[in-house]
Amino acid sequence: MILVMSPPRLASAIFDGRMASMIYLDHSATTAVDPRVVAVMAPYWSELYGNPSSLYGLGRKAAAALEGARSRVATLLNCQPGEIVFTSGGTESDNLALRGVGMAQAARGRRHIVTTPIEHHAVLHTVTDLAERFEFDVTYLPVDRHGLVDPAAVAASIRSDTALISVMAANNEVGTVEPIAEIGAIARQHGIPFHTDAVQGAGYLSLDVTSLNVDLLALSAHKFYGPKGVGLLYIRRGVKLAPIQTGGNQERGRRSGTENVPYIVGMAHALELAQGGLHSNVNRLFALRERLASGLLAYIPDVELTGHPVQRLPGHLSLVIHGVEAEGILIGLDLAGIAASSGSACASGAPSASHVLKAMGFASEDAMGALRLTLGRENTEADVEFVIEKLPEIVARVRAMSQKLEAGEVPRSQRGS
Ligand code: PLP
Repeated sequence: MILVMSPPRLASAIFDGRMASMIYLDHSATTAVDPRVVAVMAPYWSELYGNPSSLYGLGRKAAAALEGARSRVATLLNCQPGEIVFTSGGTESDNLALRGVGMAQAARGRRHIVTTPIEHHAVLHTVTDLAERFEFDVTYLPVDRHGLVDPAAVAASIRSDTALISVMAANNEVGTVEPIAEIGAIARQHGIPFHTDAVQGAGYLSLDVTSLNVDLLALSAHKFYGPKGVGLLYIRRGVKLAPIQTGGNQERGRRSGTENVPYIVGMAHALELAQGGLHSNVNRLFALRERLASGLLAYIPDVELTGHPVQRLPGHLSLVIHGVEAEGILIGLDLAGIAASSGSACASGAPSASHVLKAMGFASEDAMGALRLTLGRENTEADVEFVIEKLPEIVARVRAMSQKLEAGEVPRSQRGS
């Protein structure tokens, strides 16, 4: 049977997380665009399509939309509109912060960067590149078993040539929320620029850059029900930054390139919705997550929750299931109509143990059994109960299969690829 749906019904069905009766539990990976966001973006495709740098009416309208979005975002972040730079997403924002500030500081003889081993690769690979090609020296702060950074370790790592400190606001794999305001206060005492990758924080944490004591803050719209491929970097006035992209001098010379007006307008609205509903969303997701955690712990033997028990993202549940590889669990969940993810990186095709869990002290074989279930706006109690019913069965099946494989009892023809 071919199912035909009109676009508005299709959009709301996807947003409901009910597409092909799927339960979507991977909100840390990405989110559906909110239909209210789609609606505010719509006029900027083919009606108000002007280039914001053009001087005639159509361009001025685009510029007004762009600057309106900038002001609204600045209000939410408690900063000045001129301190917001629009980018293509979290990866570019992190790159601009690290390379931009790093290179400006290098010109003053400062080439030491302080960061953590649990950052997203957008930060880690950028720092590695700065070290390998531009002779930066990097200190990776230790984290505890819960993935928490100790502000005292930040203070102890600071040197006379420290150029930048970068610590993420919330970890994407284990959900731990870091003590950003305390770390920021230490950085400020020493006059060192402090960047936070807050990509996982929008909709769950305050993004007030003044009380967070941050100089740079990265966000990405697709994590808070906005479109993919658009983000922003807050850059505190006075922070020296060498642009990494040259061209038409848009964004006050800090990020050249014609601004993506529809996406920026959409992102601003998505951020208003996310930060506006922060408290009710946090409370509801926290309750769902607690129910999910207690149900899974009760019915699955030999599992361990990962990340901080209290200082964490409210809808984020991560666990290590001992004695299995997460890949088999993910396939079982997919067959049951549940979308989730593991903590392992498999960009190369061969899954490898998560760098985050390894830094937290987990053995590689345990880290291979990492599972991440991240709840979002559209999830219900019924979704949670369904996962509590299905996941223990799937784990039992995968464990039994792993034992048979180890014992050589599974014929070659039945071994999956
Ligand atoms: N930083 C963190 C913590 C993330 O979780 C992600 C995306 O998963 C990124 C950066 C990269 O963001 P984007 O996908 O917008 O490039």
